Amino acid sequence: MDRKELDRHIRDSAQIWGVDFVGVADLTPIHDAVVRQWGPVIAEYPRAVSLGIALLNPIVDQLPRQAERAAAMTYRHHVYDVTDRRLDLIASRLSSMLQNEGWSAMPIPASQEVDEEHICGVFSHKVAARLAGIGWIGKNALLITNEVGPRVRLATILTDAPMETSGKLRRDRCGTCTKCIEICPVNAFTGRSFRADEPRDARFDARMCDRHVEKRRKEVGVAVCGLCLYVCPHAKREQQEHKTI
Ligand code: SF4
Ligand code: SF4
Repeated sequence: MDRKELDRHIRDSAQIWGVDFVGVADLTPIHDAVVRQWGPVIAEYPRAVSLGIALLNPIVDQLPRQAERAAAMTYRHHVYDVTDRRLDLIASRLSSMLQNEGWSAMPIPASQEVDEEHICGVFSHKVAARLAGIGWIGKNALLITNEVGPRVRLATILTDAPMETSGKLRRDRCGTCTKCIEICPVNAFTGRSFRADEPRDARFDARMCDRHVEKRRKEVGVAVCGLCLYVCPHAKREQQEHKTI
């Protein structure tokens, strides 16, 4: 398969299997930062295939009722048990395809915390998705798409396959909005806009968020919050409301 055929085959397969967003990031400009943050093994890969599946709006729209166990359980099941597993299976199948074509491909799980101190995974899905042109990083430290706002789950495949990279970054469209900052029950956000040269800590206290979600687990029996995701006006929920006007 030549480069163009491989590229088409991977993107078409991802879409057939239910991926809503697919893009390829060039990681070479951030090579040194990848070595520092995730280590030399991860930094060997020059590209990242970013995959996203949009969350179902009726599930996300239950989040304000998360004190009700049924609403919290439904959200957690849909997001972590179902959508993340769908992404992991697709990332695994696409990685096998790439390997069968002679390339190295390493799928990064959709949801797996490997560093408890910094509360992060093997590699950042948001970094890959941003560089792949799928969205921008909002004031809530989530990836925000034009199409469904932050209502998307992500997985990543690190690879040396010569796929065409997206090149164009999405413009930050948070503007003067502060909804996610205001709704957070533990004030985990500083309100600063994303800057690629700043660590996440400058904008978001992940430990504070983690402690709150753990508190919810003790109170309701389910570890869920997500209000900063629910409230973002770039979500499809708002677009659908506009369409019916
Ligand atoms: S998930 Fe909840 S606690 Fe965590 S940052 Fe978002 S709003 Fe705040
Ligand atoms: S709620 Fe507003 S400030 Fe927060 S990420 Fe969405 S658009 Fe940006």
